[in-house]
Amino acid sequence: MSYSQQFSIILVGDTCVGKTSLLYRFKNSEFKQNQIQATFGVNFELKIIQLDDLNIQLKIWDTAGQERCQSFTKSFFRSTLGVIMVYDITRSSTLKTISQWLEQIKQDDNFDFSLTLVGNKNDLEEQREVSKAEAITFARNNDIDFLEVSVKTGENVEEVFLKTAKNILQKI
Ligand code: GDP
Ligand code: MG
Repeated sequence: MSYSQQFSIILVGDTCVGKTSLLYRFKNSEFKQNQIQATFGVNFELKIIQLDDLNIQLKIWDTAGQERCQSFTKSFFRSTLGVIMVYDITRSSTLKTISQWLEQIKQDDNFDFSLTLVGNKNDLEEQREVSKAEAITFARNNDIDFLEVSVKTGENVEEVFLKTAKNILQKI
């Protein structure tokens, strides 16, 4: 399929929140428990989506081993239009990481990404540590979009990428 534009998007968040699983499921439409090796560095996947009448190729970067915000260099973000920030609803520390990271990038003069906050693993309701209400308030205070998802069940996985792409399209 041909496409008219390419949007570069990056996945960030603590280790084990499900970034690699999320990207794998979006690309391949399946969840594979424990098949994914911990990778160091960055990998990307390409997928063409349709938005309005446009075919847009998403180039989605997965990150690992550098989850700490400090190690992201500005040059890495230069061509990035969207940032998907993933936390795990069963570990409140993972939302805290996002909040610290957000504080930092908001101070950057060049900051102009479309941001999407994603709470993953909402199939694990009995282990929940972050309420939906808390995340909604956090997202509202920071003026960002928010979705709860389960990569395992597939709930809202497509929506994460569509929403991010839609926000990018409105900005550029
Ligand atoms: P990453 O370090 O952020 O890339 O996280 P991974 O994608 O490697 O996932 C970490 C672990 O969480 C793996 O064992 C996944 O199978 C598991 N996982 C990912 N998404 C979900 C989910 O939605 N529900 C559940 N129950 N487990 C998940
Ligand atoms: Mg990973």
